[in-house]
Formats: sequence, structure tokens, C-alpha cells
Amino acid sequence: LKLGEFELIDRLLKPLARGFPGALELEDDAALVPCAAGQEIVVAKDAIVAGVHYLPDDPADLVAGKLLRVNLSDLAAMGAEPVGYLTAFAVPRDLDQGYLAELVQGLARDQAAFGLHLLGGDTVTTSGPLVLTLTILGRVEAGTALRRSGARPGDLVMVSGTLGDAALGLRVLRGLAATEDETWFVVDRYRTPRPRLALGTRLRGMATAAIDVSDGLLADLGHILDASGVGAEIEAARLPLSTEALGLPRAVEAALSGGDDYELLFTLPPAELERCLVRAAEANVPVTVIGSITAEKGLVVRDASGAPMPTETLGWQHF
Ligand SMILES: [Mg+2]
Repeated sequence: LKLGEFELIDRLLKPLARGFPGALELEDDAALVPCAAGQEIVVAKDAIVAGVHYLPDDPADLVAGKLLRVNLSDLAAMGAEPVGYLTAFAVPRDLDQGYLAELVQGLARDQAAFGLHLLGGDTVTTSGPLVLTLTILGRVEAGTALRRSGARPGDLVMVSGTLGDAALGLRVLRGLAATEDETWFVVDRYRTPRPRLALGTRLRGMATAAIDVSDGLLADLGHILDASGVGAEIEAARLPLSTEALGLPRAVEAALSGGDDYELLFTLPPAELERCLVRAAEANVPVTVIGSITAEKGLVVRDASGAPMPTETLGWQHF
């Protein structure tokens, strides 16, 4: 890319700041983010690298949309609402200009869908692969953000939506399972996560711990258990699987160990279950009880007969 092309990127990005007065049309040195009394700003960041975190022939608009959506999922896991985001792109010199225009189109579409704006960004050249980073800003009533550390023995372990779809979708895209035509649902689940923002905000004051499922159920539940100093028992038969996933091999393994589903995994005192189901219905997201928190540390997954499954062999190969 030549200097003039950076100006082109700036031109492409400026419309994404329109509608947020504090973005100052990206003309100033920094943006101004208003913060009402009694609120906290919630900040998260993700970086993705071509060929590592997404496939080089994934459609560019979907890659950019996924980057925004995985950051939104982190806000959902904290119970926060989105405010805005900043980008940094490291672009190889030989990258096609049309590809960048498609990236920006994906951001434009998804920022409109989720009601946030671009607040700033930077573009640099690199001798390596395309690297896209995004920092997201959200807001939450001070002191009410969901954390990983509050799970207590006796709490229910719950998850939104269905698990394993995205990992199966990735396998389809890598040619390891059926053709894409027959499995558009799981491929779409891999490429276009649905951040559970409406559920996350409703879990504040109710869930004792929460995280979004990015690395896989076992890994992410492990983060809650470590942070909370507790253990858990999960029943494999209760894992919510889509009918599409059930039609593919090794669906239960994908649900336990596959990443990229971006569902919310949370813990809840049993007395809150009824209220939680009502709030989840309001958010239009199914939630399922999959197990419970134990005082004894460690993570036990039981099969349908009640026997513990060997979780250490359930490692999932990322690429
Ligand atoms: Mg996360």
C-alpha cells in the first residue's frame, strides 16, 4: 500500500464515526467518551492474524464482523452495553485494496446492528500477514459488572444457546466434515458469532460468575473455577446441541472442547433459576442447566450413565 491508499482507508473509516459526537469525525488527536456519574467504562481488546485466527479465504466482511462480534461478546460476559471501538490494522504491502473496502463494509454493517461507532484507529504496513486488532468500550452501572470470581458451591452451571456448532463449522471449512452446502448453519455459527448482550445485561445482580465461551466449555469453565476457588460437575447428556451439530460426528466432543461459540457460561444460585429463565426469554435466548458448582476443586464431566469422562483426552485441535 502507498501513502495515498492510507488516505483512502481513512476516508473509508470516517463514515463509521458519524453519529458519535465525541468521535470528532476522527479529525482530532483522540476521541471523547462521555461517562455518566455512577457508571464504569468497560474495555476489552482482541487481535486476529490471517491464517491463524481465520482462514485467508474467509470473506473479508465476515472476518471484520467477527472481530467486532467477539469483542462485543466480552462486553456481554461482563454484563456491559456497547459504546464504541477503535481499530488498528497492520496491512501487508501487497494486500488488495478491495479486501480492505470489504473489511470496512463488514464493520459498517455490524456496528449498525449492535448500535456502536468507530472512535479512532490506526493503519500501518507490515512485512507479515494481515493483523487486525480492535479495542471495544462499553458501559455498566458501577459495581454491577459480571465477574469470573463469584461462583459458590451449590450454584447451577448454565449456558446460553447451543455448544459445539462453531468448532464443527471450522471442521467443515477445513474439509474434515460434510460439504458446506449441507452444513451452512454450523459454518455460519463459526463465521458470525451472536454476542449475547441482551442476556448479559439481564444477568447482572443474578449470576454469580460469567464468561463467554471462546476457548471451549471446559477451558472457559476452568477459568471460572480457578477465579472462584471451586470445582464443578457437568452432565454431558445435558449439553445443549443443535440438531445440525447432532448430524455431524463427534458433536459432544465439540460441545465440550470446541471454541468460538461465544455463548455465555454462567453460574446461578438455584433460587434464581425461575427469574433467570424469565429474563432469558425476554432476551430471546435459551439457557440450559448443565451441572453444578462443588466445594471440591476440579472439573468432572459425567456421561449418561453417571461415569466420569476422561476430560484430559478431550483436547480440541485448533489450527
Ligand atoms: Mg472472553
